[in-house]
Amino acid sequence: MTIEELYRDLHAHPELSFEETRTAGIAAAELRAAGFDVIEGIGITGVAGVLRNGAGPTVLLRADMDALPVTEDTGLTYASTATGVMHACGHDVHVACLIGAVRELAATQAEWAGTVIAVFQPAEEAGGGAQAMLDAGLYEKVPVPDVVLGQHVGPAPAGMVGAHPGVAFASADSIDITVRGRGGHGSRPETTIDPIVIAAAVVGRLQTIVSREISPQDTSVVTVGRISAGTKNNIIPDDAELGLSMRAYSEDVRLRMIAAIKRIVNAESAASGAPEPLFEFAESFPVTVNDQLATERTMTAFRSEFGDEAVIDPGPVSGSEDVGLLATAVGAPLVYWILGGADPEKYLAAANAGTIERDIPSNHSSHFAPVIQPTLDRGVAALVTACREWLRS
Ligand code: ZN
Ligand code: ZN
Repeated sequence: MTIEELYRDLHAHPELSFEETRTAGIAAAELRAAGFDVIEGIGITGVAGVLRNGAGPTVLLRADMDALPVTEDTGLTYASTATGVMHACGHDVHVACLIGAVRELAATQAEWAGTVIAVFQPAEEAGGGAQAMLDAGLYEKVPVPDVVLGQHVGPAPAGMVGAHPGVAFASADSIDITVRGRGGHGSRPETTIDPIVIAAAVVGRLQTIVSREISPQDTSVVTVGRISAGTKNNIIPDDAELGLSMRAYSEDVRLRMIAAIKRIVNAESAASGAPEPLFEFAESFPVTVNDQLATERTMTAFRSEFGDEAVIDPGPVSGSEDVGLLATAVGAPLVYWILGGADPEKYLAAANAGTIERDIPSNHSSHFAPVIQPTLDRGVAALVTACREWLRS
């Protein structure tokens, strides 16, 4: 199967986080065919392949495999065949490109020396995939890398690549809060502690974290994306639930925000004489930091291979990633770059009209549809170029 055929097949068969068994099977078969030693089932569905080719540096290439609970609306001939599941974040591009790189690196072993590790990671979207592979002993099963490399496709023009040195992706935390009160009849509020009033005060007061507690120099977001309480107009419920998401670009700011959220919710509960609220920390992504020197070295390799005009600095991205854990777990530098996937002509037309936000579907959209070429060829070449930059030639 060509990489394009492989991509269409992956796109048509998306799988949710930690359920990527078909995708993992394809990855493992490809790795074996290319002569890699293969370890399967690392962190439920994770796969790692190791190709030892003499003395030299060890390079880890990572692709995430999972899809999203989105109903595809692209109209593509190779659209999802799984109801309500779609590769809306382009992880199928990542898998196809890494398989392409695996094939090419295996076929050109006379030209390089060292060890290549290809990691197919589960559950990036749910936030637990990289950690699950580490917890399952990834670095007892494969050698510790000298550098961790990877890419994410996005709504930049296809053919473009580029990484931002330093903080590249925001941290993201999802916090579920239960404000507890004491329920009763709506006509007798004096017998109750109304959790809806507490929740309302919390929502208002949370807005002061970004506006009053965090420096204007530090970008951050707190969003209450979910609030629910009550069953009937004349019943004061026992509790109220708030679903928060927050993002930050430094660990220091992230910790200050979490502390502020707890303080505000606790204090608003205490102000009403309510029982202590409950906090549940769900999805959590750390800040993704690209190593300065390693990123500059890799971008220099990209510029000489693809030309200056094809290499961009996307700046810090407000999305989040767990790829950094694979690097920080062993103190290795990370280089994680953006791979353009948007139709270059459509992108240019939208840029000229000032309608990029409206006309170029972003990741997680039901219309997200990277053009197959030059996206795949550039994605394979970027992985191979970056990898070869670190291997001994
Ligand atoms: Zn995503
Ligand atoms: Zn993604």
